[in-house]
Amino acid sequence: MSVLEKTRSEALMGLEDQYGAHNYHPLPVVLSKGEGVYVWDVEGKRYYDFLSAYSAVNQGHCHPAIINAMIEQAKTLTLTSRAFYNDKLGPYEEFLTNYFGFDKMLPMNTGAEAVETALKLCRKWAYEVKGIAEKQAEIIVCEGNFHGRTTTIISFSNDEGARKNFGPYTPGFTKIPYDDLNALENALSSSKNVAGFLVEPIQGEAGVYVPSEGYLAKAKALCEKYDVLFIADEVQTGIARTGKLLAVDHENVVPDILVLGKALSGGVYPVSAVLANNPIMNVIKPGQHGSTFGGNPIAAAVAIAALGVVSDEKLAENAEYLGQIFREKIGEYIKTSNIATLVRGKGLLNAIVINDTEDSSTAWDICMALRDNGLLAKPTHGNIIRFAPPLVMNEEQLLDCVSIIIRTLREFEK
Ligand code: PLP
Repeated sequence: MSVLEKTRSEALMGLEDQYGAHNYHPLPVVLSKGEGVYVWDVEGKRYYDFLSAYSAVNQGHCHPAIINAMIEQAKTLTLTSRAFYNDKLGPYEEFLTNYFGFDKMLPMNTGAEAVETALKLCRKWAYEVKGIAEKQAEIIVCEGNFHGRTTTIISFSNDEGARKNFGPYTPGFTKIPYDDLNALENALSSSKNVAGFLVEPIQGEAGVYVPSEGYLAKAKALCEKYDVLFIADEVQTGIARTGKLLAVDHENVVPDILVLGKALSGGVYPVSAVLANNPIMNVIKPGQHGSTFGGNPIAAAVAIAALGVVSDEKLAENAEYLGQIFREKIGEYIKTSNIATLVRGKGLLNAIVINDTEDSSTAWDICMALRDNGLLAKPTHGNIIRFAPPLVMNEEQLLDCVSIIIRTLREFEK
């Protein structure tokens, strides 16, 4: 190959650069195959995937049980819309509500759509059940939140990159600091119009911030005291990622509204859902909310298979076990490191904080070096690198990854 000839990776990245909107800043690696905890680039190099498509691929890449369910369903019936019944949605609704312990579910496709659904449901409940005056409902959210990219959701983000020049913004949201029960009680007590509290049990995109022990349980109790709905966005933390089926399970909290996405399909297909009990879900009547693809037969078959894998392969238990080892080994290394200052997380949702300013490129440079050493991870905000491998990883693979990570970090020690 002449020096002027592009590699296949370079050519493919060039196509995205030329013909695709520049709304992402991917790590320069072009993947063409995945299996279990591994992905391969177009040149055939193998990597450990330590992002799992932002915790969508919890069940591992191309899990045969999920793929087979999808193929079988795709050969039979793909989409009916909700204009008609189909033979997969009812059984899926029964399965999902039993699996998570709620009366009803509302099927959607992406995480952001499911969050939007939860917000609409909460507002409607506030007017029709709680009795808040029309257009006055407020929803409390947390600083540093990430719930998706729609106009309403970015309206209450405090990430300027996500917000700037996309206004005017949707009103009706009150922002309070994360992990601050006093701020929550102040917000709840200072207005009669509070309908809900929307919270990530661990703030993933913000940098894997784990709140203080007891925060979620106390926040739920405060919401009960003020007759306000506790809405758990478990799009990233749910489906075994943090070592329990749901991250709220660590504190035995049952949300009023549960929002799921990503790994609900094992990363095979866009499937999301909102779950709630009848007194809340029944406020939605025909024609008031929906989606052409929401609850389609492929999604139903895929989600049932994906959740089956979570139970059959004990992925929550595995995440809990491997997560302890990860934090213990990395924590041990950090004691003598001058490049990494902290490891935090739960289960297999973890982050390492890099010892440099937030606007430095060190975390990015480390991710590039990790890539060269055969492991793919991505900085979240500034100097924080998130580590979230598929939950089907075994101990030997995890230890191999830990040694890659430590060896790479050592290359950056001053
Ligand atoms: N909520 C949380 C907590 C998330 O982490 C994400 C995505 O990362 C979303 C919602 C949005 O999901 P989607 O990208 O599928 O719209």
